Amino acid sequence: MRFVILASVFLVSASAGCTADPFSDRSVESLAAEHVPETEPSPAATAYRIVPVRPIEDARAIAAAARPPVDRTADLAPPLVDLARAEPGLKLDLRYATADNFMGVPLYRTARAFLRAPAAEALVRVHRRLVVHGYGIVVFDAYRPWSVTKTFWEAAGPVDRAFLGDPAEGSRHNRGAAVDVGLYDRADGRILAMPSAYDEFTPRAAADFRGGTAAERRRRALLRRAMEDEGFAVLPNEWWHFDYRDWPRYPVLNVPLEAAEGVRNPD
Ligand SMILES: [Zn+2]
Repeated sequence: MRFVILASVFLVSASAGCTADPFSDRSVESLAAEHVPETEPSPAATAYRIVPVRPIEDARAIAAAARPPVDRTADLAPPLVDLARAEPGLKLDLRYATADNFMGVPLYRTARAFLRAPAAEALVRVHRRLVVHGYGIVVFDAYRPWSVTKTFWEAAGPVDRAFLGDPAEGSRHNRGAAVDVGLYDRADGRILAMPSAYDEFTPRAAADFRGGTAAERRRRALLRRAMEDEGFAVLPNEWWHFDYRDWPRYPVLNVPLEAAEGVRNPD
C-alpha cells in the first residue's frame, strides 16, 4: 500500500514540474543573482514512518549491547566539533532529538550537532558564503552515534531497511563526516521549501528530481553548488545529505552526543 501512495505522490509531483532543469551547472553567484519568483507550492509532504517490527525499547537494548564495526583502514581522527559553537548563525533543526522523525520518537537525548573538524570548518564556510544571498544553513542531522543507527536497523523491517544505513558497515553520519542540511531565510528564520521535505523517502527527494517549483529547484541547486565548492558531495537519492571528502578515512564512533565534543577515536 505504501508504494502505491509513494507512486501517486511522484506522479502528481512530476506532472506539476518542468521537464528541464535550467539550474544545473550554474555557479553559486549566478544562481543567487537571478530573481526567481515563487510559483505554486509543492504538493504536501508525506510524513514517512517506519513500521516497527519490535518495540523501540527492545531495539535500543539490542543496540546498547552491540559493538560497532572496527575499520582498520580509517587513518584520520580530527576531533568532533560542536557546530553551534563553531558558528552560532547555523540553525539547528535536529529532528532525531524530537519525535518529528521517521521513528516517531526522540533518538537523541540532547539537541547538539557535531562534525569532524575539517567538515565543520567547510560547512561554516558554506554558511558564511550564503550570507550575501540572504540564506543560512539549517542542520537537520550531523554526527550520529552508531547505537542510533543500530536502533533504527533493529526496529525496522526488511522493507524499511532499504532506506537505512547498515550498522554492520557503519554510516557516514557515524563517522562524523556526513551532514543533512537545508536553507533558511535570514530575514525571518524560516526554513525554505525544497522539492521534497527532509527524510521524505520518495522520488521527490532525489537530487535531480525535476518536479517542485522553479524556486525550490533553484534553492536546491544553490545549496548543492555551495556545498560542492567546499568539498561535500550530495547523495543522489537525498538532496539534503552531503558526504565530506575523505569520509571513509574517519573511523565509526559510538560516543553519545552529550559526550561527543572533542572526541577523535573509538573507545
Ligand atoms: Zn544523511
